[in-house]
Amino acid sequence: MEGSQTVRRKLIAGNWKMNGLLDDGTSLAHGLRAKIDETAANSFDLLICPPATLIAPVAQVIAGSAVALGGQDCHPAGAGAHTGDISAAMLADLGCSHVIVGHSERRQDHAETDPLVRAKAEAAAGAGLTAIVCVGETADQRDAGRALAIIEEQLAGSLPEPASGPHPVVAYEPVWAIGTGRTPSDDDIGEGHAHIRARLAQAFGRDVSDVTRILYGGSLKPDNAAEILAVPNVDGGLIGGASLKIDDFWNIATSCP
Ligand code: PEP
Repeated sequence: MEGSQTVRRKLIAGNWKMNGLLDDGTSLAHGLRAKIDETAANSFDLLICPPATLIAPVAQVIAGSAVALGGQDCHPAGAGAHTGDISAAMLADLGCSHVIVGHSERRQDHAETDPLVRAKAEAAAGAGLTAIVCVGETADQRDAGRALAIIEEQLAGSLPEPASGPHPVVAYEPVWAIGTGRTPSDDDIGEGHAHIRARLAQAFGRDVSDVTRILYGGSLKPDNAAEILAVPNVDGGLIGGASLKIDDFWNIATSCP
């Protein structure tokens, strides 16, 4: 509730995507751990989402630290004949607390639909994981003036009904801003986030919408982080490219107001 000052602690989440071999991944994790261990108090929560191959070794590196661990995807089923897939329970078993679902690269590369994303988010909650549900418009959709309508449609289709598990985080990631170096204006980011907050309130009530963290993602860098992270209703960031460099990722995190 902005009017009555609901405080949502910022979440700074790194999505390593399909990057990193064992040495790179563990030294990145070591570097982050060193940074957070030497900081007495932070105004943010730090999360890293390595590729599946690195989750177990990274878990060992960050064990006992304030760095949280997440997966980049999960299957909607709990177990079974799904070659190459990973269940939410498997991620939880390795120490993950979060999982990204519905990232635009998965929506594009794997033709993931809103109902599938919702099923994944439900599976995540069932395994005790916080799903980070990604939504965002393409450049064509924005140019056609449909950005807010697309966000709304994806939210309505992808978010699970509140269940007993952790309620999801939402990541607003305009597809045209991911990995391109282009970002929306602060006003556009604020408009998107306010729209998401309003839709959450409409669908689930103020109690849920007030505590739901809404992350911005798309070319978040050290030089634009302070400005973007200060936009109302921006409760943190989902960071791709810049999360692969310790200093850049840390600079973004410490830009949190
Ligand atoms: C992402 O992959 O979610 C992302 C926002 O990437 P980048 O920061 O590289 O734009």
